[in-house]
Amino acid sequence: MRIHEYQAKRLFAEYGVPIAPSRTAESVDDAVKAAETLGYPLVVKAQIHAGGRGKGGGIVLASDRDGVRTAAERLLGKPLVTDQTGPSGRIVRKLLVERAAQIEEELYLGLTIDRSQRRIVVMASRSGGVDIEETARTDPAAVLKEEVDPPFGLRPFQAFRLAHRLGIPALSVRPVAKAIRALYRLFIDLDCTLAEINPLAITEDGSPLAIDAKLNLDDNGLFRHPDLRELRDLNEEDPLEVEAAAANLNYVKMSGNVGCLVNGAGLAMATMDLIKHVGAEPANFLDVGGGATAEMIEKGFRILLSDPDVRAVFINIFGGILRCDLLAEGVVAAAKKTEIDVPVIVRLEGTNVEEGRRILAESGLKFETAADLKEAASLVAEAVKEEG
Ligand code: GDP
Ligand code: MN
Repeated sequence: MRIHEYQAKRLFAEYGVPIAPSRTAESVDDAVKAAETLGYPLVVKAQIHAGGRGKGGGIVLASDRDGVRTAAERLLGKPLVTDQTGPSGRIVRKLLVERAAQIEEELYLGLTIDRSQRRIVVMASRSGGVDIEETARTDPAAVLKEEVDPPFGLRPFQAFRLAHRLGIPALSVRPVAKAIRALYRLFIDLDCTLAEINPLAITEDGSPLAIDAKLNLDDNGLFRHPDLRELRDLNEEDPLEVEAAAANLNYVKMSGNVGCLVNGAGLAMATMDLIKHVGAEPANFLDVGGGATAEMIEKGFRILLSDPDVRAVFINIFGGILRCDLLAEGVVAAAKKTEIDVPVIVRLEGTNVEEGRRILAESGLKFETAADLKEAASLVAEAVKEEG
């Protein structure tokens, strides 16, 4: 789960990661009020779940009341397009109004899980700021790393060594090491998958300050943090993913045009591979899981069809606990209630497969039933080719 910068900064404050005074605002008047209590100069920052705001015009420096008003009017209620939002952008519903810092240097600090090492890795760079992705690509040596040995956690000397290796003025090494340790504690306590401060500024007196804040929380750890669950902003999530989650279905949106209904994550992966193998691209996949009911299937099928990108649907089910006849009933029920104007290709195998195929065939609906995976794949390829 992603959270907003302003939410992440509140958590930073609890853990002792240094931040500047700030307030949130949802209207132009509130933004001006916030500014008057904070004092100038300040920055007005669009709160969306995407980075690249600086380059996209979502971060505005303001030196007086008029500057804040103009910035707030320009940002609030309008879509902000950055290189991370896609072309339609994200609607800005909230602003963070923050006292501006005098920035001497912009460092990068990030914690994530390196799955190949099976360890948390702390990354830091002296060339932080809006071009860090470019730096990581062109000059990977500029990003320094410390790996965390799980039984020991991040040891104080590692944080100190990392800060020291950055080559920043001696005065800043200790406070930066302290900020690294604070961010690590937060990362562990809150079950994060990513904690990133870019930039971590060094201000004129040499002390570090988190200018930006990005935290991703592990969905599987959220049951331990009911208070963090509240931070979820459904406006920032795909509405179909939200609906699917509410129905206990696993729905993932992608960029192609074949909608996929499968049971089980392994089969989902194999189905993605197969679709790509025949030169098509998945629009999404919907995993109904092992113990799906006919109602869940029906709901899932409708969610698939309401994705406007879908040009063909591929139902690929291996009936085990989920019986093929039950699946067929769910699909037929959903199909009867929805207008289907795209080809639906079905490949069923497993428990009660004959019964399932019979239900589909006798439904009077136009399903293309494939005898095996290979045939299913070529039907899918044909379907999206015809549809252009
Ligand atoms: P992002 O572009 O979405 O990552 O947004 P950031 O919060 O990282 O802001 C982008 C850039 O705006 C930073 O790298 C800074 O250069 C600049 N910026 C943000 N806040 C301040 C501030 O308080 N003072 C100054 N001088 N610059 C700031
Ligand atoms: Mn940033």
